[in-house]
Amino acid sequence: MRTSNWILSAALLVSMSAAAQQATNSQPSAQPSAPDAAQTAPAPQQAAPAPAQPTPAQADPAQATQPAAAQSAPAPSTVAPPPPVAAPTTMDQVVTLFIEHEHGLIKALSNRTPVVETYLQNLSPDPQLGPVPSEDHYFLGRLDMGESIDRKDYLKEEDKSMQSRLLGGFQKLYKVEYQPMGFSWMVYADRTDFDREHYQFRYARREFLGDVRCLVFDVTPKPKSGRGRFLGRIWVEDQGFNIVRLNGTYYPAPHNSYFFHMDSWRLNLIPGYWVPAFIYSEEGDFSAGAHNKLAFKAQTRIWGYDLKRGGKDDELTNIRVDSVTDETATTQDASPLQAERVWQQQAEDNVVERLTEAGLLAPEGDVDHILQTVVNNLEVTNNIDLTRPVRTRVLLTSPLETFSVGNTIVISRGLVDVLPDEASLAAVLSHELAHIVLGHNLGSKYAFNDRMLFSDDATYQNLGFKHIPEEETAADKKAIELLKNSPYAQKLDNVGLFLKALQQRAPALNALLTTHLGNPIAEGGQVTRLSGLATQGPALDNNKLDQIAALPLGGRVKINPWDDKAEMVKTAPVAITSARDKMPFEVTPFFPRLARFGANAAPAAAPTTAAANTPGN
Ligand SMILES: [Zn+2]
Repeated sequence: MRTSNWILSAALLVSMSAAAQQATNSQPSAQPSAPDAAQTAPAPQQAAPAPAQPTPAQADPAQATQPAAAQSAPAPSTVAPPPPVAAPTTMDQVVTLFIEHEHGLIKALSNRTPVVETYLQNLSPDPQLGPVPSEDHYFLGRLDMGESIDRKDYLKEEDKSMQSRLLGGFQKLYKVEYQPMGFSWMVYADRTDFDREHYQFRYARREFLGDVRCLVFDVTPKPKSGRGRFLGRIWVEDQGFNIVRLNGTYYPAPHNSYFFHMDSWRLNLIPGYWVPAFIYSEEGDFSAGAHNKLAFKAQTRIWGYDLKRGGKDDELTNIRVDSVTDETATTQDASPLQAERVWQQQAEDNVVERLTEAGLLAPEGDVDHILQTVVNNLEVTNNIDLTRPVRTRVLLTSPLETFSVGNTIVISRGLVDVLPDEASLAAVLSHELAHIVLGHNLGSKYAFNDRMLFSDDATYQNLGFKHIPEEETAADKKAIELLKNSPYAQKLDNVGLFLKALQQRAPALNALLTTHLGNPIAEGGQVTRLSGLATQGPALDNNKLDQIAALPLGGRVKINPWDDKAEMVKTAPVAITSARDKMPFEVTPFFPRLARFGANAAPAAAPTTAAANTPGN
């Protein structure tokens, strides 16, 4: 319960406006729900004779949800929905349908180049805490979903994928070398040969995943169908007959390499299609006498399906950066100070726009309302009066990172995820607010539009907002001053605890702590940010179950992989019953609550962690 503290207080504002919105939404959204209810009667998945002519409600669930679609996203999907499906009468027909729809999905997404991120933690056993991270790896790139699935990496130093690419697995020659591509391989069961010639499909049972009723099939490659075939289980939703989840591995593996086990989830983000969104991978056996030395868990997230420019397109001519429109209603010339400020704002707007285009920033949304409330609390109690309001944006990536450009504070999704409470959130935001208050503006060179002309995967080489050490020290000092004079003054013990938890894990989490645009929070395994608060509060004690110093990754912010919108996850608190339940900064399996497109006012795309959500509900 403590863990969702700050959402509760800061979200008040947001939930009120959400309620107001729901009221206005209720009419259109009531429409799709009525046919939904009518639909449960004929139960299309049953072998019992189904009506030959499907009722209009049944014919096209996509169509029924059209009003909600038009509302939530003004025509983002240029993907035409598939034709309506006549209800199948046999399981054999179901197999035909989902094979057909899998090919339809591959085709529909073939011109997309979403962002793909994999964060991996190698594990070693700890007698008290179970398997804990001992080392980590991070990959970020663009996935080309065309003819052959390919990817382009944002992080050049990690880019070994091009020379020695091994699909769906990793090589073990001298040491284990992870192939970033391998983690995203299970976006499809089989890119080229998903058919009855290569596979056997056996119906297993029926099961609900979230709100969606599914038919479960076991899929096995037929003998002599070649190497690296999908082996596992698929979940097929029972209205459009699309695959919504794949769980398994590839078989048989080539010599000297392995295939991971993967659990791959799709979300119904556009009418008629379930789009690959999350893939969890895990290997390792910690039972007594186990031989497998390799142990890791990894989360792969895919987003940015609707990004305008493809990552494969390097043409500079394609990039257009609009300069800001001058909104100052004045007939006078700008004074030197005014000119300086307009210049800085232009730089800020350029950077925010460019990062959004590259699929790295979420559009302004619900999470920002919460962040801005916290920033506002700091400002008001410290009598900070800036000429322009402070804005916030969410960086869509996992590494723990904040930076600011002009008056915009950027905080990474991963960092928001692991913060235990509002005071800790205030602490990390206060450091950036301090930079703004102290006038440590780095961005002004980006007011030149030519500096925005680079390919998306070169973003990290072209943008950077790292301060010199003197400014870092000054910002930390100022930040603590701001905090001590704020509503969070009495809760700085929690911030101290968070910093201690981070320090405990920092040596093992180099990749999570490697920043790509801003200053690092820790360097060389040593936490440097807000060091003045590091000794504050009680000692870190893993056995104290009510002491939640940091959270697992993925429990706070959910991203809509189609339009990159970020919102807060709503999970019911789950009691922590042992020190192993805490999992600070750790990767956990995904268990999104599946829902049909338009079924809710907001698409339920919550990648809740297993820790926060009991599987099977
Ligand atoms: Zn800083």
